[in-house]
Amino acid sequence: MINIQPRLPATTAKTVGELAFKYYKNTRQGVQKTNNVVYLQDFRSLLNSSDSDLYDALAGEEYRQRDGIELIPSENYTYPEVLVLLGSVFTNKYSEGYPGRRYYGGQEFSDIIESLAIERAMNLFKAGHANVQPLSGSVMNQAVYFGLLEPGDKVLAMELSHGGHLTHGAPASCMGKIFDFKRYRTDPKDGSIDFDEVRKQARRHKPKLILCGYSSYPRDLDYAAFQSIADEVGALTMADISHFGGLVAGKVMNNPFDDGFDVVTTTSHKSLRGPRGGMILCKSKHAKAIDHAIFPGLQGGPHMNNVAAIAFTLKQAATAEFAQYSRQVLQNAKALAQALLEQGVKLVTGGTDNHLMVLDTMASFGLTGEDSQVLLDSIGITVNKQIIPDDPLPPLEASGVRLGTPAATTRGMREQDMRTIAGWIVRTLAHPGDIEMHQQFKLESETFCRNFHVPGGQDFKN
Ligand SMILES: *Cc1c(COP(=O)(O)O)cnc(C)c1O
Repeated sequence: MINIQPRLPATTAKTVGELAFKYYKNTRQGVQKTNNVVYLQDFRSLLNSSDSDLYDALAGEEYRQRDGIELIPSENYTYPEVLVLLGSVFTNKYSEGYPGRRYYGGQEFSDIIESLAIERAMNLFKAGHANVQPLSGSVMNQAVYFGLLEPGDKVLAMELSHGGHLTHGAPASCMGKIFDFKRYRTDPKDGSIDFDEVRKQARRHKPKLILCGYSSYPRDLDYAAFQSIADEVGALTMADISHFGGLVAGKVMNNPFDDGFDVVTTTSHKSLRGPRGGMILCKSKHAKAIDHAIFPGLQGGPHMNNVAAIAFTLKQAATAEFAQYSRQVLQNAKALAQALLEQGVKLVTGGTDNHLMVLDTMASFGLTGEDSQVLLDSIGITVNKQIIPDDPLPPLEASGVRLGTPAATTRGMREQDMRTIAGWIVRTLAHPGDIEMHQQFKLESETFCRNFHVPGGQDFKN
């Protein structure tokens, strides 16, 4: 329970419930706190009658997510409570500024949810400060660059085809035009990060910021090694843990703050299982620069429905259940990788230590990533095509696919299920022309999915 007293001198309420109850009473004398006093409950049938096209698309997407195996490593099934908060009246509220320092009135509840989110984020990640307002992972990273750098400053980041993300200064991105991104490459022998190479590039370019973190690299990171190189050349350190923020929260992957990092960014919708959004965590000495870069630097009003849903997500991420979930995500990834390797599939870096792996479909099956993705879609397994290190093919074709386990694990799938899935994947990609077999697998995978509940979903009846 947070103490709302300091921020709300005009009230005698000591808890959020007491404060809220004043409003319930003002609205309608005597209503129970648990009742929804203002809004209708049945929003779905309302949508069905007012816009049936959108209703049908929503229902179709629900069935698609229920009846397929979701292996895109950046996706997950969020909590039903997150869906409630996202669809709530917090979306009506303008809250430009930060708790206690807003530009509009009516902030009692907005201040509470944002303070809760900030406090929970700081505790969960052991950060000196947290900003929970970024509307996406992309603007979150932009805010760090604008907050800590001047246009033209050098940033040393991972080569994009070796695992780095678009927002790490891809030439096509605006950030790539505004800041001067230099690259470190992975070891061509085993695909791992080569710290002699990182040090060499750092000494050569003298960057103001060294950035690590990735979206397609299947290993954990040695933050102490990055930090010592940064100290040597006088650079700030930033880790973008967007993909594996949940696994750091669940304490199954390293926390960059343990090795003295300046800034950590993470999305809230990937392994953390929350709403779409971003968070910037940093040492307290960077708090002002980061907050200023988000608002008024890059954004106007924060999406308070999203902030509320992030606050909920962070409370869950601190529980023992979530730590157990995180362990299972890694065990499932190991089991999936092992089963694929045993069947002769080539994986970038030869395996995984995290939640994802990259299959070299060209080397393993002579198929592009695009063709593999389409084939797997046809049997009810959703993946994404992925460029591999120094890929000769363009990103829309690519030589590989990326697989990950956060979503499947949320539905309760375990190691033996990963072996079943690996069997479908290998036999489909090894026999791309056997349509009859693909149809059979589609039926099998759909039946298989019925063993696994969708969070907040109905039980299977049809
Ligand atoms: C997903 C991701 C982002 C960007 O997130 P969006 O919400 O899609 O903008 C940034 N960095 C990394 C490493 C990511 O994986």
